[in-house]
Amino acid sequence: MDRLASTSALNLARSLYEAGIRDEPVLKAVANTPRERFLDAALGHKAYENTALPIGQGQTISQPYIVARMTEILLQCQPQKVLEIGTGSGYQAAILAQLVPQLCTVERIKSLQIQARQRLKKLDLHNIAFKYGDGWQGWPSKGPYDAIMVTAAAASVPNALIEQLTDGGVLVIPVGETSQQLLKVTRKGNQYVSEAIEIVRFVPLINGELA
Ligand code: SAH
Repeated sequence: MDRLASTSALNLARSLYEAGIRDEPVLKAVANTPRERFLDAALGHKAYENTALPIGQGQTISQPYIVARMTEILLQCQPQKVLEIGTGSGYQAAILAQLVPQLCTVERIKSLQIQARQRLKKLDLHNIAFKYGDGWQGWPSKGPYDAIMVTAAAASVPNALIEQLTDGGVLVIPVGETSQQLLKVTRKGNQYVSEAIEIVRFVPLINGELA
């Protein structure tokens, strides 16, 4: 994406720095991404606040701090191919697509997926493959992935996802119910090492049927 950062996006990136985000490419991606395009016009005035906001269908665009935090954790393993579960508005995908060569993203609500695809195309982000499907199953035919990010709360770590990681690959996932522990799970051969990052709050990852 080749554009001048807006003052509001730049200010958002500055506030994320103050909140502890230190990864420069991540801050730059936030500064370069017009978050208002991922929201209804009526919510546009809130686009650069560091808060989660509704995107329809009972879903939310994640809080920018969490987007940045999860992205900086995921980038630590220098992934080439990344899978995102829960495309939603497409904002997290826009950030990731500026930082990794190849992104695959899965969404179970068709209308959200269609909108996200259009937005990302308009921003000239073409290194993204979209799937309408149940992300609990991952996207095996495109895998394995160097990193997987789940942007909805899972009751437990889905086996299908860790099986789709490369050796050394990393899964970033919120696990729990009302509030969740954000986990970083690293694959080491057939072992999985889990590290707790912080407490977060996401909409649930639905296991099973499509909307
Ligand atoms: N990454 C998004 C966050 C959206 S909220 C953004 O930046 O806007 C979480 C999303 O996960 C919702 O759109 C929801 O429909 C989706 N989701 C929930 N369960 C899912 C599943 N099993 N497979 C795919 N997507 C799922």
